[in-house]
Amino acid sequence: MENKFKIFNSLHREVETIIPNEDGKIAMYTCGPTVYHFAHIGNLRSYIMEDVLVKSLRFVGYDVKRVMNITDVGHLSSDADTGEDKMVKGAKREHKTVMEIAKFYTDAFFADCKDLNIADPDVVEPATNCIPEFIHMVEALLEKGYAYQAGGNVYFDTSKLDDYYVFSSATEKEQLQVGVRDDVAEDTNKKNKSDFVLWFTKSKFEDQALKWDSPWGVGYPGWHIECSCISMKHLGEYMDIHCGGIDNMFPHHTNEIAQSEAYLGHKWCNYWFHVHHLNDQSGKMSKSKGDFLTVSLLKEKGYNPLVYRMFCLQSHYRKPLMFSYDVLDNMTSAYEKLVKKIAEIKEEGTVDEAAYKEYRGKFEECLCNDVNTSTAITVIYDLLKADMSGATKLKLIDEFDQVLSLDLLKAAKELGEGKNVDAELESYINEKIAERKAAKKAKDFATADAIREELLTKGIAIKDTREGTTWELV
Ligand code: AMP
Ligand code: ZN
Repeated sequence: MENKFKIFNSLHREVETIIPNEDGKIAMYTCGPTVYHFAHIGNLRSYIMEDVLVKSLRFVGYDVKRVMNITDVGHLSSDADTGEDKMVKGAKREHKTVMEIAKFYTDAFFADCKDLNIADPDVVEPATNCIPEFIHMVEALLEKGYAYQAGGNVYFDTSKLDDYYVFSSATEKEQLQVGVRDDVAEDTNKKNKSDFVLWFTKSKFEDQALKWDSPWGVGYPGWHIECSCISMKHLGEYMDIHCGGIDNMFPHHTNEIAQSEAYLGHKWCNYWFHVHHLNDQSGKMSKSKGDFLTVSLLKEKGYNPLVYRMFCLQSHYRKPLMFSYDVLDNMTSAYEKLVKKIAEIKEEGTVDEAAYKEYRGKFEECLCNDVNTSTAITVIYDLLKADMSGATKLKLIDEFDQVLSLDLLKAAKELGEGKNVDAELESYINEKIAERKAAKKAKDFATADAIREELLTKGIAIKDTREGTTWELV
């Protein structure tokens, strides 16, 4: 098939047309979540944009196979192989076993994905399922002279590679080579600063709940080895696209490439797709900060998770994105207005083939242009104003929403089924909410509760959020 889909390839720092290894097929791998805590909406920004990438590739005709791991062992609190295993940390925090923690947060992750209309990957594999594969790869790396044993651990020897810092510019490489990471206590077993652990037997060993027999003693795998092995297990020796958040680029993806290509003896993955961070007032949203936002929290506050999805799609994946409730409020009204406009489309006429082709082409062009989701959404606004039959408009929106996954037609249908509100009802509700607010201020909670009940008997459920009282028809 004709290849015209372009993405920014972090490997060459350029927008490139994807040429798959096998015509019409894309082998794709995504680094999955570390399941020691809830995913925050920053993590989920990465998964939303990766979901749109897969759906866009399918939209233009590729047969995509997407594999994702679940990190349930080996990811230490510092990326430089020091600190505690994050899973052990989670288990201690909640007085549970590591496997209980892994199960709970894996389920929670997929529940969040469902709320955000993120499709399940074709294959999901937890790291703890693949210990024999990890051991096999470490053995092969030792045999080929790319790895060494020291202090009980097995390390990858980065000095054996011509170019270890594959994602970095010449200046960055220099800085990385001389630079000492301030935050990291040096591991004296390492021959080179940039070497990394393939298999642990010593470090923090007493704390480690999950451990397996290996030729180097009882221990557990390093974090990076799992992605190399799990991807090869399901996608073979050649991969087209590897995805992850931008923070995974170094050291995680750099190490994945080092060990995979040393093991295979040839180039492994051709395109690297990195999603930039969601930030809040204090910088990058991260699990270790503790005060991160989750999908459940957004729902509790009365937000539709798909409004968060739309917020992500309105920005390009290669730009940092700043989260605030104000922006989410604006996005809520933008989403509602869009749905209202779609609900007003009359299902009439026949599909106008020329207009259909023209607009589908425009939408495809946006996707092929480095997954430009915000201009893709603009195509919907354009077609709403365009002179074409209702049938054409509805067909186009239906197809575009297979990629955007904003439930646009579903929401419009619900609005059309009387779950919408006329001006009279709206002013009645607002009046009642104001009355209730006054009652609450006067500490007359009986009246406040009675108003809530009265509204509920009319099918209106209200919710108190930080931004005020919201309501929905139930
Ligand atoms: P983790 O569960 O920590 O292994 O991270 C899961 C995914 O979320 C990885 O691809 C990370 O690169 C990505 N990620 C982490 N923090 C953010 C953030 N603030 N914004 C976007 N993606 C992120
Ligand atoms: Zn990975």
